Amino acid sequence: RERLYDVSITPLDAGMGTILAFDDVTALEEAGEMRSEFVANVSHELRTPLTAISGFVETLRGPARDDAAAREHFLKIMESETRRMHRLVDDLLSLAKVEDTEGLRPTEQQDVAELLLNAALNLQGQADDRLVQLHVRGCDAPVMAPADPDQLTQVFTNLIENAIKYGGSGGEVTVTLSQVQHDPRLRGPGLIVAVTDKGEGIDERHLGRLTERFYRVDDHRSRGMGGTGLGLAIVKHIVNRHRGRLRIESTPGQGSTFSVALPTR
Ligand code: ADP
Repeated sequence: RERLYDVSITPLDAGMGTILAFDDVTALEEAGEMRSEFVANVSHELRTPLTAISGFVETLRGPARDDAAAREHFLKIMESETRRMHRLVDDLLSLAKVEDTEGLRPTEQQDVAELLLNAALNLQGQADDRLVQLHVRGCDAPVMAPADPDQLTQVFTNLIENAIKYGGSGGEVTVTLSQVQHDPRLRGPGLIVAVTDKGEGIDERHLGRLTERFYRVDDHRSRGMGGTGLGLAIVKHIVNRHRGRLRIESTPGQGSTFSVALPTR
């Protein structure tokens, strides 16, 4: 893009000339644009369920007032739209919190195997509902690393939940924890958590953009599943805060693997 400058003109005393100062404000402008874009996105995301809910309130007052079945139907939709707004607000708060702490590296040692196992156990019900087999490997013994336990739990939950959601009904999701003596990306010893599904996969052109806020491959599908479009953006920030690496590999038609590498010291 073109660079943007703030120009200030300071006339000096008579006969001494003028000072012309150019301040490069390109980065500042870009940050401002990103912020406005984010606010526009958030407003849009909130307005959609709000419009639906207020529309249904009208319907319930009017045409559906004496129709018990229609009433029940509309109330159900209102309930799910409300839940989605809740999730969106929760995710926005998580994102803000993670961005605030991004410079503070966690120092307390945590058992990542236990965190991962618990995250998977909590999603067992969702997997059962979608007839997905959920396998967890490598969590039998403790694997210690400096970590923020709540944030790592959120990373594992988001990745496993996505694998269940997008991995195809009746599919299989495998979560594996392994340790490496030396990971070149971490420049030291680390652990790797890989979440693999056998779903439809993701086309290469989307891979680089998945961690952008509100980026969705299939907007309609993500919303239908109750997604906020913020899950992977949150994952990316938390992984950054842990000085880790997120890798996404996918073969369309075969499935995807989201893996997180974290330093163990
Ligand atoms: P969402 O709330 O939409 O799930 P995310 O940030 O978690 O938001 O994911 C962004 C998008 O990445 C999703 O809308 C989906 O299109 C895609 N995606 C994420 N995980 C997977 C996966 N395991 N398989 C296929 N697509 C995925």
